[in-house]
Amino acid sequence: MTDYSTSMRTDRCGDLRADDVDRSVTLCGWVDRRREHGEHLAFIDLRDRSGVVQLVIDGAHDLRSEYVLQVTGNVRLRPNDTANQALPTGAIEIDVAEVTILSTSDPLPFPLDDRTEVDEVLRLRHRYLDLRRSRMQRNLEVRARVNSAVRTAMEEQGFIEVETPMLIASTPEGARDFVVPSRKEPGSFYALPQSPQLFKQLCMVGGIDRYYQIARCLRDEDLRADRQFEFMQLDAEASFVSQDDVLVFISHAVASAAEAITGERPGEIPRMSWLEAMERFGTDKPDIRFGMELVELTEVFAGTEFRAFQAPCVKGIRVPGGAETSRNRLDEITDQCRSWGAKGLVWMKVTEDGLNSPVAKFLTDDEQSALAAAMDAEVGDLILIVADERRAARHILGLLRIELGRPPVTEGGLHFLWVVDFPLFEGMDDAGNPIPAHHPFTMPHPDDMDALDRGDLLDVRSQAYDLVLNGWELGSGSVRIHQREVQEQVFGILGIGAEEAQSKFGFLLDAFRYGPPPHAGFAFGMDRLTAILAGEENIREVIAYPKTQSGADPLTGAPTAIDDRQLEELGLRVLPPASQA
Ligand code: ASP
Repeated sequence: MTDYSTSMRTDRCGDLRADDVDRSVTLCGWVDRRREHGEHLAFIDLRDRSGVVQLVIDGAHDLRSEYVLQVTGNVRLRPNDTANQALPTGAIEIDVAEVTILSTSDPLPFPLDDRTEVDEVLRLRHRYLDLRRSRMQRNLEVRARVNSAVRTAMEEQGFIEVETPMLIASTPEGARDFVVPSRKEPGSFYALPQSPQLFKQLCMVGGIDRYYQIARCLRDEDLRADRQFEFMQLDAEASFVSQDDVLVFISHAVASAAEAITGERPGEIPRMSWLEAMERFGTDKPDIRFGMELVELTEVFAGTEFRAFQAPCVKGIRVPGGAETSRNRLDEITDQCRSWGAKGLVWMKVTEDGLNSPVAKFLTDDEQSALAAAMDAEVGDLILIVADERRAARHILGLLRIELGRPPVTEGGLHFLWVVDFPLFEGMDDAGNPIPAHHPFTMPHPDDMDALDRGDLLDVRSQAYDLVLNGWELGSGSVRIHQREVQEQVFGILGIGAEEAQSKFGFLLDAFRYGPPPHAGFAFGMDRLTAILAGEENIREVIAYPKTQSGADPLTGAPTAIDDRQLEELGLRVLPPASQA
């Protein structure tokens, strides 16, 4: 047990129990709630990080909400009928003999109870008050425990923490860099790290065979519920390892984090190939907490007369009990699919009398029964079908499945999943160059080297893998290329010429001339892991000082202009916004 006593207090408010009756205690904390009983008697809930305790104060005092008090008094049992079972300290109260006001408070901009919904900008502007609320207190505690469990798990496996710099040259994670102007070299800029990727690989060349870091990463991308400009990653790299070894290291870390919060250690994490994930779930980050999987129907309609189904790929999902869905809602869903790029969406309700759908009349009886069988359809279900190019059909149904079936974050338990065998390239850019699916240091799959040599680029798999938790991409990693020739070949394929490669990553390529060990690594988002473990849908709820969706910090006002002298020192001039130029 931690000793929380200090020169100002003997105990914490929330720690007191019936065992403490008759002790004289000194407590410090905030006035949480106050109830008057007659003119002279006040009941006050005093709050600190550990919780609240009831004070009984006799005598006139002007004690308002959020005043900070130091009180001394005796612990006594509450009269029997007033004990509060719901509160850990509910059996007792403090009969206060002495009150000192340590500081006063203005009236608050919003109430601090968890029942009131408060506008987010207001919460963030006064984040120091928001942090006093029990939700944030609990979330930051979860976060600290997750950090600590992950650190311990990595260290148990012989990883050592190495800190890498913040002011660096650009890293290749594919997002936009945040840049910092150099005063010593006006016109030159540092990039803030999108990840410690290159440094951790250099650590491997440096003989640090198991590196980890809880690293701050910065990416200038549009913000979403699961994305902030800056975020924390558990970043790891190891030498003389294969993909399997990395999966074991990282599984241990996330299982330890989950156990630290839930008290239960998750079992072995299942693996699924990228292709299987795409075919069954329409996404590379399947939420396997629920079914509604994508069912292949291409064969069922191979000979169909129905034009809309004469497509390279026909797939469907079954919404159990969805036959009740209204026409309006079906129209909405169809529009939604169009906004995702669908040409259309076919819906069918499974009724006692067969399929009820505007298109049922275009399907033969055989097609209808083959469809019902393939979908495992039962009366009362709704079937939704997309016919398109394979990629598009998977993508649209994958989004639809999530839209219609995804349970709230607090339901369905923790379902981790390894997605392995990612393609090396995710497609071609406008200039005809392939786009790396992970980053350019990812080792091609050993079985696909011939395809790489032949130039069948989209058939080449890589030794890259993702970790998914309840449909959130938690992290990615790969076995790295450690041979210069292979790296040069991949750069060549990516359209990165020798000169560009040298100027961007020359230091890594140079290092690889001096005995680089085979190595592999991974990184996962601590914010995302913590949010799910804390039962929060938005990572802002588990970050002490996050930015709003638009990237602003209402607390400090960042980003702000800097003064002319600073600009001059940095050799910078600010142009008027494009619209005014
Ligand atoms: N650097 C990668 C990332 O941040 C992770 C890795 O490959 O280790 O996503």
